[in-house]
Amino acid sequence: MRQLQGHLCTIAMSLAVICSGHATPLVEPTLHIKPAVSGAGHVALTLDACGGQTDTRILSALVENKIPATIFVTGIWLKRNAAAVAIMRAHPDLFELENHGGRHIPAVDTPQKIYGIRSAGSPDAVLAEVESGAAALVRTGEPAPKWFRGATAEYSPSAIAMIRKLGFKIAGFSINGDGGSLLGAKEAAKRIAAAKDGDVIIAHINQPTHAAGEGVVQGLLALKDRGMIFVRLDDADGTGDHGTTD
Ligand SMILES: [Zn+2]
Repeated sequence: MRQLQGHLCTIAMSLAVICSGHATPLVEPTLHIKPAVSGAGHVALTLDACGGQTDTRILSALVENKIPATIFVTGIWLKRNAAAVAIMRAHPDLFELENHGGRHIPAVDTPQKIYGIRSAGSPDAVLAEVESGAAALVRTGEPAPKWFRGATAEYSPSAIAMIRKLGFKIAGFSINGDGGSLLGAKEAAKRIAAAKDGDVIIAHINQPTHAAGEGVVQGLLALKDRGMIFVRLDDADGTGDHGTTD
């Protein structure tokens, strides 16, 4: 009986591999910036504003401590967070706003679910997501975005090629600072404080009720105390894999 169970498991596992083989393999690109010539180092802080609200713990800490950041905003978030957008626009030396899509739909051109979110599902839908995100930014009076980061930060290789053709660089990352905003404060602080010269940190600025946000602030302040210089993507020489920047 045990042997039969073993056989059934093996068959089930093979089927799982075959089934998952039907979906396009996705990539999660990395991004690094050019290391500093001297000093404690350079890191780029990127914060996603997917939807929902604004984590004012993070926004206030950035303003008070003069920490520059690249904020990836969606059309949905822009509509609902006018006060936060006004604060960011009042500090153009600190905040660069870039494209996180119109409706926070993963830039994957085949139908599938990524972390429970339905993908764009077709090339046309990927284009619509990218272009509507850029249009939403321009409508608020922002300069045209140069960087794109899709919802979930996973892509099909063909979607990457399409987005590059539209003229956007694709923003991967090298440190997942808050685990999709689901980490505890301590773990988020630890991950961010561990950033090294050339790292690109991703975290979220749209989850004010999550514990992770408190940790994001602690981690950033620890980096600042170490003398780390924060740079924005438009001021950095960013290099990504999977053809995302070259
Ligand atoms: Zn997002």
